Amino acid sequence: MGVEGDFAPRLPERCFMEEKRAVTMDKIVNLCKARGIIFPGSDIYGGMGNTWDYGPVGVEIKNNIKRAWWKKFVQESENSYGVDAAILMNSRVWEASGHTASFSDPKMDCKECKTRQRADNLIENYSKGTVDVDAMTQEEMQAYIDEHKIKCPICGKFNWTPIRNFNLMFETSRGVTEDSQNKIYLRPETAQGEFVNFQNVQRSTRAKVPFGIAQIGKAFRNEITPGNFIFRTIEFEQMEHQWFCKEGTDIEYYEKFKKAAFDFLTSLNFKPEHLRFKDHEKLAHYAKCACDIQYLFPIGWSELNGIHNRTNYDLSRHQEYSGKSMLYVDPITGEKYIPYVVEYSIGADRLMLAVLSEAYDEETLENGETRVVMHFHPALAAYKVAVLPLQKKELGGKATEIYRELCRHFMCTYDDAGSIGKRYRRQDEIGTPYCVTVDFDTLSDDTVTVRDRDTMEQIRLPISELVSYIEEKIKLY
Ligand code: ATP
Repeated sequence: MGVEGDFAPRLPERCFMEEKRAVTMDKIVNLCKARGIIFPGSDIYGGMGNTWDYGPVGVEIKNNIKRAWWKKFVQESENSYGVDAAILMNSRVWEASGHTASFSDPKMDCKECKTRQRADNLIENYSKGTVDVDAMTQEEMQAYIDEHKIKCPICGKFNWTPIRNFNLMFETSRGVTEDSQNKIYLRPETAQGEFVNFQNVQRSTRAKVPFGIAQIGKAFRNEITPGNFIFRTIEFEQMEHQWFCKEGTDIEYYEKFKKAAFDFLTSLNFKPEHLRFKDHEKLAHYAKCACDIQYLFPIGWSELNGIHNRTNYDLSRHQEYSGKSMLYVDPITGEKYIPYVVEYSIGADRLMLAVLSEAYDEETLENGETRVVMHFHPALAAYKVAVLPLQKKELGGKATEIYRELCRHFMCTYDDAGSIGKRYRRQDEIGTPYCVTVDFDTLSDDTVTVRDRDTMEQIRLPISELVSYIEEKIKLY
C-alpha cells in the first residue's frame, strides 16, 4: 500500500469544498511519512488498509494534544475526574447502550465491481450537500437513489443491492471456543466506560452532581468507507468527557461545553474562521440537542468533535440492564434522581489531522526559496528545541553538554549533519519552535543564538537563561 494510494480512490467524505485550503491532504501525508510523523501501518508488508503508525515525531505531537486536552478538561475542570476503563466490556453493556441493535451505517454493495458504499454518502455527494440526508429514513434514501439512479462512484454502473444496515462493531470471542455466548466486542466508543463507572467514581471521590468523568482511549469501528488518512480509521483514539448534571441545568451545561470545546481549539492556535458549529437536524431518540464543531479540513468542512445532550438515557439503560441503581441522592435535599449527561467527544487522531492541517504553511523566502513550516502551538510541537553546533569537531562537545541539560526540561533534538540552512529547514518541517545554535563565541562567552521558527529572528542569550526563556515561550496558555 502506497501512502498516496491509501486515501486517493475513495468516495469523498460527506463534506464539500465550499472554501479551499491551500494545504492538500497529499502534502500532509507525504510530509508525515518523510519526517517521522505518521507511517502507513504494517508498511513493510504492503500495509493494512487504513491503519497508521505514529513515528517518533508524531507520537510526541499526539501525546501533547492529549496532555493539552486532559489539562483543560480534567486538571483545570473543577469536579472532573479521569478514568481508564477496559476496552473489552461485558457484552450486556452494548445491549444496554443500543450498539448491538443499532450501531450501524446504511450500506449498499455494487453488484458490478463488488465495492461497498454508504447510502447516505452517495446521496450527499450526488446532491452536493443540498439534500439533508440526516433527516431521511432508510426507505427515503432507497427511493432517492432509485429515482436519481445514482451510480457507483468506482465503476460508474447503477446496479446496487438494497440498502442494508451494517453493524460497525468489531467482534471477537473470549475463551477457547468461538460460540456466540463468548462473543465480545472491541469498544466502538469510550463513553460507556465512563457511564458504567458513574457510581464507582461518585462514591470513591464523594463528588457532588454536577461532576464530570473523562477518558482518553482507543475505540474501534468497522467503518464501511474509512479513508482520508487519519480522518476516518478503523482504530482510533477518543477523548471524551461526560458531565453528569441535574435535569433542568442540562441546557446551560450544553452551552457551556460548546464554548469550552471551541475555546480549547482556539487556545491551540486554531483560527476561528476555520471552525464552525453545526447543529444535528436528526437527533438520536434519546438526545435533547446535539451539535458538531466542524473544521475546514483539506477535504472540506467536516466533523471534528461532537457535543451531545444525552438526557438520562445512558444511566437509565444501565440501571435497567444491570439491575444496579444509578440514582444519585442529593446530600442536601435528599432528592433522588438519575442525572442527565452532557457529552463532549473528540477524536485524538482527527484532532491531530486538524492540528497538522492548521499548522502547515509554505513560505517564500527572501532568496526565492520555499520553506515548509509547521506553525504548531509550541506546546504541541514534538521537540521544543533543536541544538545545532555550527561545526562538529570543536563545538560538538559543548553542544552535547547544552543538549543534555535542556533534555532534563523538555523534549529536544540534536542535529549536526549538513549546512545550517538545511538543518533549520528540517526543524521547520517538524515545527520545532526554537533552534539553539552553538558557535565559536559560545566557547568563550557561554552564549548561544536562539532562532524563532515563525519569525526566523535570532537573538543571543546566555546559556544559563535558556531554560527559563524557552519554558516561558512554550506554555500552553
Ligand atoms: P462521524 O460522523 O465522522 O462518523 P460520529 O458522529 O460517528 O463521527 P462520534 O461517535 O460522536 O462520531 O465520535 C466522536 C468523535 O470521534 C468524532 O467527532 C471524531 O472526532 C472521532 N471519530 C469518530 N469516528 C472516527 C473514525 N472512524 N476515525 C477517527 N476518528 C473518529
